[in-house]
Amino acid sequence: MPELPEVEALAGYLRQRAVGRRVDRLEVAAISALKTYDPAPTAVAGRAVTDARRYGKFLDVVFDGGLHLVVHLARAGWLHYREAFASTVPLRPGKGPIAIRVRLDDGSGFDLTEAGTQKKLAAYLVTDPQVVPGVAKLGPDALSADLATFAAALRGRRGQVKGVLTDQSVLGGVGNAYSDEILHAAKLSPFALTDRLSDDQMATLHAATRRVLGDAVTRSLGQRAAELKGEKRSGLKVHARTGLPCPVCGDTVREVSFADSSLQYCPTCQTGGKPLADRRLSRLVR
Ligand SMILES: [Zn+2]
Repeated sequence: MPELPEVEALAGYLRQRAVGRRVDRLEVAAISALKTYDPAPTAVAGRAVTDARRYGKFLDVVFDGGLHLVVHLARAGWLHYREAFASTVPLRPGKGPIAIRVRLDDGSGFDLTEAGTQKKLAAYLVTDPQVVPGVAKLGPDALSADLATFAAALRGRRGQVKGVLTDQSVLGGVGNAYSDEILHAAKLSPFALTDRLSDDQMATLHAATRRVLGDAVTRSLGQRAAELKGEKRSGLKVHARTGLPCPVCGDTVREVSFADSSLQYCPTCQTGGKPLADRRLSRLVR
């Protein structure tokens, strides 16, 4: 799932490539992906792209006259920039991976795509991004929150730090992958409780959050948008690396179920060498 660094890099890429270009046409192939009907998709035609921004994991393509295409890429969504399209024929609604296509006046443009059968990509054409429910409820941004803001946000929600870090209403931008990386960098157990973190631990967690996300943004920027996904994977130390050695200490990265997914961590770096109990597994065994 694209998280803050990937979306930040996509916004950066669009700022370089699309700002200043006018829209020829916005085509909707996946009717269910566009969550708004007023303004209509035709309202974008003829407008220039003036900016691209990020709110949490949301991407905002800004058009002149104050129109915004706000997109949440969900689990399997992505933005593919095309230097040219093979055909000028408008997309037909169908079952392909392309949800929305934006054609620009120089023949380039971008496709919002979603792989798989579960269609969760959500796009909103709005005059104010704050009317998008997911944007309105976002907590402070994970990349820019200062320590006081970060600490207040996390302490305000009692729970396991893994779950709290990924709650978008607490902190915007962090998902399953980068929360594993942040907790590994901070040497914290994913099951540590937020209201029991010491001031030192909170400061370490805050610094780790900014460093992990900042490094990932730097790695992703300058890459072509199509290559960003591969870049993300190569920079990870524990996430999706179950059974592989921790690059910091050499211990074996372990996995435990969490919420509706799983998390990865290093016992030596994060939990005093002790493996975490897998609650789902122990319930089954019993
Ligand atoms: Zn380790």
